[in-house]
Amino acid sequence: MTVYLVGAGPGDPGLLTRRGATLLARADVVLHDRLVSPAVLDLVHPDATLIDVGKDPDEGGGARQEEIARLLVEHGRRSAVVVRLKGGDPFLFGRGGEERDALMQAGIPCEVVPGVTSAFGVPAAVGIPVTQRGLASSVTVVTGRVGEPGAGGGPDWAALARAGGTLVVLMGVTTRGAIADALIAGGRAADTPVAAVERGTTPSERMVRTTLAGLAGVELEAPAVIVVGAVAALGAEPSTATAGPLAGRTVVVTRTGSRARGLVDALERAGASVLELPLTRQVDASDGGAALRAAAAEVRDRRWVVFTSVNAVDRFMAALRDARALAPALVAAVGPATADALRMAGVEPDLVPAEHSARGLVEEFPAAEGPERRVLFPCAEGAPDTLADGLGHKGWAVQRVVAYRTVPLSAPEPALLARVAVADALTLTATSSLHAYLALRTPDGAPPPVPGHVVCIGPATAEAARAAGLAGVHEAWGSSGDGIVAELVDHFGPGGDGGS
Ligand code: SAH
Repeated sequence: MTVYLVGAGPGDPGLLTRRGATLLARADVVLHDRLVSPAVLDLVHPDATLIDVGKDPDEGGGARQEEIARLLVEHGRRSAVVVRLKGGDPFLFGRGGEERDALMQAGIPCEVVPGVTSAFGVPAAVGIPVTQRGLASSVTVVTGRVGEPGAGGGPDWAALARAGGTLVVLMGVTTRGAIADALIAGGRAADTPVAAVERGTTPSERMVRTTLAGLAGVELEAPAVIVVGAVAALGAEPSTATAGPLAGRTVVVTRTGSRARGLVDALERAGASVLELPLTRQVDASDGGAALRAAAAEVRDRRWVVFTSVNAVDRFMAALRDARALAPALVAAVGPATADALRMAGVEPDLVPAEHSARGLVEEFPAAEGPERRVLFPCAEGAPDTLADGLGHKGWAVQRVVAYRTVPLSAPEPALLARVAVADALTLTATSSLHAYLALRTPDGAPPPVPGHVVCIGPATAEAARAAGLAGVHEAWGSSGDGIVAELVDHFGPGGDGGS
């Protein structure tokens, strides 16, 4: 029974501390604010209880605060590891101090895990240094509350205007006009640069540059960080004029993390702007990996070990206590990505079929001979029987063991789906991604938008997409990202039939 007050960072899960990530994976209960990004929530163990305490810092939420404290104490008494997950840093404008005090009064141990605050992290991510020699020698972080200065009211805007330096305003979207007026009245120049960043470090980040005089007139949505001062003019402009055959095209990639890296890189090299849409993630088998560890411990006695996914390789190798145990067995990989994952782990595969599919693997697999006919097949939960059946026909005894499960992610941000709606193309690399995509729902329960051009890897995915009623379905050659890029360039590139 410890409650951990964890800072979630501004949005990008890569900006969460390692301590925070460890605790999210171990937590029994996670209570989070609305501000915490879905990508960070996806680091929570799937069996943990996730509670949205719904507090929206932009709405003040005074009465809710007591209820949150009560929930924290209650769960803190009942569960071993409780995480209170707060956007940015838990102690900056998040009322984290009050929550800590309530826990201490109730005698519940509490540990604070700092986070990257949006006040500094979001400007940094768009290239704005909040202090810079010659431009700003101080930075002040304030709430956007406007009213009589003092206990319940807002900051003393006139004093802040006189103090100069950089001003970072949180929770200031609705009051931005009044803030600008107060600062100008206090003596700051009307043409002082202002940068406002919405949903910083998330896939739907958006930056607006203006001046104090222009701030009221720009369109801006919460949550946003507003930076006022000379430094707000610094930083890179989002590049609009990328070269390459796919310049100006937006392509949706439905895989995320390291798996998607190759495809995302290839698309960006071709000039496309990539919208990463997380759909699923891989977690341990329901037995927590016990069967996989047991199988790995006995791998010495198997003739072959067969892999059909990078995930299976990663999980099997992690379950293997001593890599030397694998030495007597032969190893097969279904295709180049799986083979590369094995090589990364220091294992050179003995068989990679020319046709990168379960069928291709069965075809090239030798017929069973000799006394040891057992083949270990670490696979995804629910993996098709094609491979096991095919090898069975060749005389092998295939032992399937679940190496991981694929589970759907939490709902994507509405702003992200809105951008998908206007994207040029959707890429699908597996039938499971197609189904996960079609299962998405917009906030009002409607099916997801589908861009007019859909590129699939593999005939099975393309067929399934057509069967699901998608229009503009095309199949890319090969099994890697390059085939997808080539198809898109064919269609959208110079001389392609995709128009401009
Ligand atoms: N403890 C948080 C701040 C809580 S107040 C932190 O350290 O970041 C909530 C305000 O933070 C929002 O109204 C907005 O101004 C800002 N904010 C938080 N995350 C943000 C993000 N990803 N992009 C822009 N602003 C953000």
